[in-house]
Amino acid sequence: MPLDQYHRDIDYLRISLTDACNLRCVYCMPEHMTFRPRHELVSDDELRRLITLFGALGFRKIRFTGGEPTLRPGLVELVRHAVNTPGIAKVGLTTNGVLLDRLAGPLREAGLQSANISIDSLDEDKFRQLTRWGKLREVRAGLNAAAAAGLRVKLNAVVCRGVNDGDDVVELARLTLTNPWQVRFIEQMPFGNNHSFQTKGMVSEAELLAVLGKSFGPLELVNDGQLDGEARLYRLPGARGELGFISPVSQPFCAACNRLRLTADGKLRLCLLRDNEVNLMPLLRGGADDAEISACIRQAVHGKPWGHGLAQDLVPASRGMSEIGG
Ligand code: SAM
Ligand code: SF4
Repeated sequence: MPLDQYHRDIDYLRISLTDACNLRCVYCMPEHMTFRPRHELVSDDELRRLITLFGALGFRKIRFTGGEPTLRPGLVELVRHAVNTPGIAKVGLTTNGVLLDRLAGPLREAGLQSANISIDSLDEDKFRQLTRWGKLREVRAGLNAAAAAGLRVKLNAVVCRGVNDGDDVVELARLTLTNPWQVRFIEQMPFGNNHSFQTKGMVSEAELLAVLGKSFGPLELVNDGQLDGEARLYRLPGARGELGFISPVSQPFCAACNRLRLTADGKLRLCLLRDNEVNLMPLLRGGADDAEISACIRQAVHGKPWGHGLAQDLVPASRGMSEIGG
């Protein structure tokens, strides 16, 4: 198992397959974006090679993300490769769900176990406002297809002050009463030149617990508050599913961080909220052998920073969220 310099087990790799997206969520990216050309992205062959190396190094979990990973033509085969890679026990996908209607079946058949689907509101107008042009019915169709295909479903909602921090949160939470899903509320994180909007819009876990408590009564804490990944879990009385709170701003979980990120242009990003990166492209395209690439990954793991610096007003500047993948 790869250990970093602070003795954390780093065994989870999030792979961004593209910086492009078919939505433009207001908290994630500006409306007008230029996306990277295909040749600047790590190719499918290069990704397969890296996934095999990460598996051999002791990584146990891979999640495909983006931008929007379902826009990548080779997604299903990449999932199949990851699922069949020795050492990799869990493969997941984080998606906006727009294209899941037709992809959920093939992805499940390729061995995908779970899908995290982003849905910030069940109100059509609010959903459009937050995604700039998203159609809620497409995401709901994707969600139904994922559940019907047998994927374990988690829903992600970024909560934005004054937009979806009231009834929307209550209605999303209500889904867990009848569905065995985990509905997760994410605190908005600041990046680059969008950071004052993101910081002002952040709604904390404590505020959300108060809103939900008013509608449902006190929530039951699950697992004594032990984190499930990065989420603290609660249950509404009598619910089939769970609520998760991902609160990197108000309650940082850096001490338990087990992840590394690979950006679509081939950089290992060592912390979501810091700009430290290690570029694998010169090795991948410069004829390096597997041992050299593995040594570089091991060194990157070792050099992972302790945690983010949001409390000291240190905001990552080099990339927005859509270029990292969450
Ligand atoms: N397009 C896919 C999706 O939306 O699920 C995958 C990529 S997206 C960048 C991954 C996750 O990051 C999504 O759940 C999204 O809501 C979340 N996200 C985007 N911008 C964020 C921000 N500024 N703060 C917190 N979460 C954010
Ligand atoms: Fe696209 Fe996901 Fe960012 Fe929304 S959060 S703009 S769906 S990458």
